[in-house]
Amino acid sequence: MVNRRIAEILRNGQPDESLVVQGWVRTKRELKGFAFIEVNDGSSLANLQAVINQDLPDYEAIIKQINTGASVEVAGVLVASQGKGQRIELQAETVKVYGEADPETYPLQKKRHSFEFLRTIGHLRSRTNSFGAVFRVRNACSAAIHQFFQERGFLWVHTPIITASDCEGAGELFSVTSLNLKNVPRTENQEIDYSQDFFAKPTYLTVSGQLEAEVMAMAFSNVYTFGPTFRAENSNTSRHLAEFWMVEPEMAFCDLEGDMDLAEAFLKYIFNFVLEKCPEDMEFFNQRIDDTVLATAENIVNNQFERLTYTDAIKLLEKADFKFEYPVSWGLDLQSEHERYLAEQLFKKPVIVTDYPAQIKAFYMRLNDDEKTVRAMDILAPKIGEIIGGSQREERLDVLERRVVAQGMKPEDLWWYLDLRRYGTVPHAGFGLGFERLVQFMTGMGNIRDVIPFPRTPQNAEF
Ligand code: ATP
Ligand code: MG
Ligand code: MG
Ligand code: MG
Repeated sequence: MVNRRIAEILRNGQPDESLVVQGWVRTKRELKGFAFIEVNDGSSLANLQAVINQDLPDYEAIIKQINTGASVEVAGVLVASQGKGQRIELQAETVKVYGEADPETYPLQKKRHSFEFLRTIGHLRSRTNSFGAVFRVRNACSAAIHQFFQERGFLWVHTPIITASDCEGAGELFSVTSLNLKNVPRTENQEIDYSQDFFAKPTYLTVSGQLEAEVMAMAFSNVYTFGPTFRAENSNTSRHLAEFWMVEPEMAFCDLEGDMDLAEAFLKYIFNFVLEKCPEDMEFFNQRIDDTVLATAENIVNNQFERLTYTDAIKLLEKADFKFEYPVSWGLDLQSEHERYLAEQLFKKPVIVTDYPAQIKAFYMRLNDDEKTVRAMDILAPKIGEIIGGSQREERLDVLERRVVAQGMKPEDLWWYLDLRRYGTVPHAGFGLGFERLVQFMTGMGNIRDVIPFPRTPQNAEF
């Protein structure tokens, strides 16, 4: 008999087809002479209902073993369902229980659990409807990202995790030390010597793959990275993780306008893709998590984003009829409340803010002729705030050297980066998208810890 995924059976299965499914039991209902179980294998939000008749050998024993959370294999024949709620169901011929789940201790019972509670059982939460939907949408977003860039001839480049430079200059780094656990008697409470550095220079986990992506763009023209990045953020917000994934395209022969056009087309493409690939999951988010999810997605796909300069944004914020917690004035970085006000209240769509003051942005952004602002752009999303940070890069060697020094960095540490300007420099631009913030924006999930399978936040790296 053919082994099939439940999503596909629910879509295409026809009465009289014989098949096998494997999955985890969501519910069991015992009636007179038979029992219903609902099985989920992670392929869809909906479960497949199986009917187990009492004439099955060992009926009593099997039913006793099957509880919410048990893993089973059911073989049988599809039949048209008599009941409401499903088109077809599986008439079981054999049921095999792989692993039982004790109803006294299995933490996922039928009631709805809070996300806070589910974070304490992160190793089991993927078996719930919400997390099933989140991780399927997360997968669809990843696939859309690769498809978007591959269709446009971008090269996917793998930039290093271990680096010697702090790309953003923000100083929120995790350092890398070597440790040979074979030489450490783990049973004894002995001091561990972390001091023997493996690398000749101090090294860190990367905060961004951008500088290395620029290296690759200076040979392949259009490239992108998509990988994990790390920041020792001590901020306990619903938008920051210590480990998050970033998508960073980098384009040679490209200015800030080209960069913004690409970023906007990119977001539209991903939303479109997910709406098409995961309609049930998106409907679920709209019903259960945030009733603006579908309208927001339609809005992204169909409307142009707003574009304005930082200077104009500050003017709008200064005269806003809204009490902000943090002050706004020219020269200060926007806080997420300001970003959200612009996108959520004022324009009611994503907003691209450009030309930020040089002093609040990284050294590599291209200086404007006013010498005060840089060719930066941030894309601000309703409910989230910043989801993309990008810029045209400084391609002029002398200006870049000046900016490196002004930001307290040593040009000799960045000799290879400066070389890119020494030999065959070109105008180029790129951006970084926080992948988890995109998934948050897409699904309406309020907390970034709930859109990554294993969130890393201060004090939390257990599972
Ligand atoms: P924020 O102002 O929200 O702290 P940032 O300006 O420090 O973000 P960038 O250095 O511009 O962040 O990084 C590019 C993108 O990566 C951001 O636009 C955001 O989407 C994402 N990002 C940055 N820091 C984090 C984090 N700690 N957790 C998750 N995503 C992040
Ligand atoms: Mg930050
Ligand atoms: Mg920022
Ligand atoms: Mg930024």
